[in-house]
Amino acid sequence: MSLSEIKSRIAKAEKAAGRAPGSTELIAVSKLQPDERVEAVLDEGHRLFGENRVQEAAGKWPAFREQFPDTKVHLIGPLQTNKARQAMELFDAIHTLDRPKLAKTIARLADELGHCPELFIQINTGEEAQKAGVLPTEADAFIAETRALGLPLSGLMCIPPVEEEPSLHFALLARIAARNDLKGLSMGMSGDFERAIALGATHIRVGSAIFGERNY
Ligand SMILES: *Cc1c(COP(=O)(O)O)cnc(C)c1O
Repeated sequence: MSLSEIKSRIAKAEKAAGRAPGSTELIAVSKLQPDERVEAVLDEGHRLFGENRVQEAAGKWPAFREQFPDTKVHLIGPLQTNKARQAMELFDAIHTLDRPKLAKTIARLADELGHCPELFIQINTGEEAQKAGVLPTEADAFIAETRALGLPLSGLMCIPPVEEEPSLHFALLARIAARNDLKGLSMGMSGDFERAIALGATHIRVGSAIFGERNY
């Protein structure tokens, strides 16, 4: 599917939900995609991308950014504490803040570096043992803890369980955000972004629908 088709589906979903046109940010997830495909999307004028791994992003984005300086890149995959500094130097936003130790490390580095990416807290809405994220019951406390550290918290992020109706998870994420006065909702991927927009997504993360299948 082309970028323009995805954009028209987004516009349609915003309209159907009674939302302002352009109120959803499209993060083009470029992980494991060949450089030619990424460059084609940059050539079409798109400037917001998502990557899962610090190492992979460090290998490709500095060069692309020289060519396209206004490009923003968001980290949407898990972050180890020992990669936090590199991540903060590389990314404009981190969607996967999920534990106190990482929050404290980011706060210390933010002081040292004098800047901090936008932050989203990942919530494990499906309470899956193998998945990262804060449990829904622990979300309010962790949000308060993050704010007490002075960190720039933009919103929440979730990845619903593959076998479940994602809308239930999107709605839960939206409720947790609303009761904590958070505006940002990073939710929705290739298969379900219209449902995420219907439930208030501000950032959708779309990979294969834009770029095609990934090279694993
Ligand atoms: C890979 C990935 C995506 C994109 O998935 P698609 O199904 O290709 O759109 C979105 N979010 C996260 C966290 C991912 O890891």
